[in-house]
Amino acid sequence: MQDTNQATISTNGVVRPTLVEVNLTRLSENFRAIRQKTAPAKVMPILKANAYGHGIVEVAQHLETLGADYLGVAVLEEGILLRENGIRAPILVLGGILGNQVPHFIKYNLTLTASSIEKLCQVDQVAAQMGVKAKVHLKIDTGMERIGVHYYSAENFLEKSLSCEHLDIEGIFSHFANSDAADLSHPRLQLERFQEVLYFYEKRSLPAPPLRHMANSGGILQLPEAYFDLVRPGILLYGVYPSPEVKRSIQVKPALSWKSRVVYFKVIQPNHPVGYGSTWQSDHQVRGVTIPVGYGDGYFRSMSHKAQVIIRGKPYPVVGRISMDQIVVNIEGDSAYNDDEVVLVGEMGNQAITAENLAEWADTIPYEILTNINTRVPRVYIG
Ligand SMILES: *Cc1c(COP(=O)(O)O)cnc(C)c1O
Repeated sequence: MQDTNQATISTNGVVRPTLVEVNLTRLSENFRAIRQKTAPAKVMPILKANAYGHGIVEVAQHLETLGADYLGVAVLEEGILLRENGIRAPILVLGGILGNQVPHFIKYNLTLTASSIEKLCQVDQVAAQMGVKAKVHLKIDTGMERIGVHYYSAENFLEKSLSCEHLDIEGIFSHFANSDAADLSHPRLQLERFQEVLYFYEKRSLPAPPLRHMANSGGILQLPEAYFDLVRPGILLYGVYPSPEVKRSIQVKPALSWKSRVVYFKVIQPNHPVGYGSTWQSDHQVRGVTIPVGYGDGYFRSMSHKAQVIIRGKPYPVVGRISMDQIVVNIEGDSAYNDDEVVLVGEMGNQAITAENLAEWADTIPYEILTNINTRVPRVYIG
């Protein structure tokens, strides 16, 4: 498998004790729950950023067996990686494109996002030169101001798309800026703008492109009016809700666990500080264990003095600063032994630590926690 993204550090079968475990059964259950709620819309799982840290190739392979209709990635290289690993499902690259990338899209049978008239014509030209039709989705900006043709000037764009003979205009889409909020007034405004743009086809008695789409995870949970022909779940597929305030209208469970093992046990004497900067010390004797994970793996240093882990079914605080490769956990008077399993994210007994918990400790969002568990951490698949 030619796969730089996945590069797992494993030499002669020796794998790090710090690993990510992806539960494929949970991924299936989440996928089916989303499909059931959004039917008859098609489902395009979003696999950008190494499938939100879950491993892009393995997740794509699994979703293909589940019958995913389409796959979505952010950048050309992610699409090529999937093709080179034998994925045959249609793949839409959601991000902006550069002219010199167009031949690669066509060569690997990847669907392009056209976000301006200029890009549309560029793709048409290259497709003509290559003697093929390029599959294109038109991107309409209804209030995100990232890429896409503004809703208020989309008419020329759609008009132009009708005359490009070497394009197969398979889809048209937009993207929500606030679909995970409790206040849905802005997403509703965006939805109205998108519907107005789509009215272009009705006015001319033309069929709209067969795949109209808008809903990300927040839209799937909160805006059934936005399902159209296809939905684009990212974080929800992985079993994580996009925000604390979003309506949980579909039940999902996290597919990812992040685990390690105790590699060292010691007694820490009073007033003997732990870690760089000597930022924490105990006023009484405690037991401490060292775990081989750190910010070099994506266990954010900003969680220092806040993070907890689970050992033997009990939560314990990480003490001192998080280093690049190690953390120290205060187990007070309890027992723990070398090789004991440590849960950084996941469940043990009746305790759980979620990506949301880490996001709160690191003052970020669960998306950033998941996508930052880096490639030094091997991924293993269960279920
Ligand atoms: C990332 C992304 C999604 C998925 O977003 P989630 O909030 O993870 O569901 C959908 N559509 C586009 C265009 C995206 O960039």
